Amino acid sequence: MSAVRPTGPLDRVAGAHDAALLAVARRGEPVARAGLADALQVTPQAISKILTRLIDRGLMEEAGSFSSGPGKPTTLYRIVPGSRRAIGLHLTRSRLHGVVADLTGRVLERHSTEVDPALGVPALIDALARTARELSRHGPGELLGVGVGMPGPVDPVGGVHLVSSSSTEAWRGASVRDLLLAELDMPVLVDHDSRAALVGESWSQPGLLDNSVLVLAEEGLGAALRLDGTIVHGAHSRAGEAGHTVVRMGGTPCDCGRRGCAQAEYLQALQDGDPELAARVLATLVLNLVRLVDVDRVVLGGRSVYAHHRVTMGALREALAQGLREEDQMHVEVLLSTRGVDLIAAGAACEVLEHEYGLPTALVGPER
Ligand SMILES: [Zn+2]
Repeated sequence: MSAVRPTGPLDRVAGAHDAALLAVARRGEPVARAGLADALQVTPQAISKILTRLIDRGLMEEAGSFSSGPGKPTTLYRIVPGSRRAIGLHLTRSRLHGVVADLTGRVLERHSTEVDPALGVPALIDALARTARELSRHGPGELLGVGVGMPGPVDPVGGVHLVSSSSTEAWRGASVRDLLLAELDMPVLVDHDSRAALVGESWSQPGLLDNSVLVLAEEGLGAALRLDGTIVHGAHSRAGEAGHTVVRMGGTPCDCGRRGCAQAEYLQALQDGDPELAARVLATLVLNLVRLVDVDRVVLGGRSVYAHHRVTMGALREALAQGLREEDQMHVEVLLSTRGVDLIAAGAACEVLEHEYGLPTALVGPER
């Protein structure tokens, strides 16, 4: 992001409690102080302090009250979805799809345009900026910034499209974050498309996807990992580049120079008009990932998956049932993303929301 606010230890504790309360509230149901105290493992007095802070900032509001016998009625609280919003942009090698989302990650408006990578970086930045400006006119609430999800590999710290066999040639080394920041004068965050998608799915379903893998089948095959509640980046920001793991020795030649990569096998099967084989390739990849990192949820998304979702889900469930037959304790649920074409754009918007109001990973103490 453009500017990082200086925060002391006490600010961090307060921020962590605010984030934890917002995560409970994002589940949708109005909540009472006692329920929040239970969920956050702090006293009801501490909850009052946190609520006061969030209500003052317009993030939470009272939502009526109820009586369960004699005494004071219990006040309920809920999140204010329209208090904040963020823009998310999903860039592919042929088009740009943008959304503006509210504080809960719900899409308020969308806008799409075509992109030609051959035109290079200035044209790319121009298209991103124009779409962001168009979307900034929609929806209520304070606009927090712009998230960009693009094909990898991407360095999210520097906001740079990295140089690799799978990166788009004309964009290699482009400092997308800094260039867009200069155009827009608002915070900008850039990340790998599948990571953005997983952040978005987790944001809208707090707690459900703490150990999960999201597999994205768009123009290529990618994945993102969230383990013990944390999105994994890896030493070179390439964690989850599962498309280039080999599933067939001596198989189909791949862009990366090897043979039998999951991505090459998957795309070849689709090109041959064999979605069932493609689904089995995807299922093999997913089972390998589940075996490697031990997750309990697998989320599938991307245009190729949506186009063949029945056969894909079937192959995946069968592969997991077969592959984990001897593992009584391992239960893995397969979910299809419900966001459709908005998956990555909404995810990129949620990354901005998460940056501002997400749970910090550092250990925090009790609210004083
Ligand atoms: Zn490869």
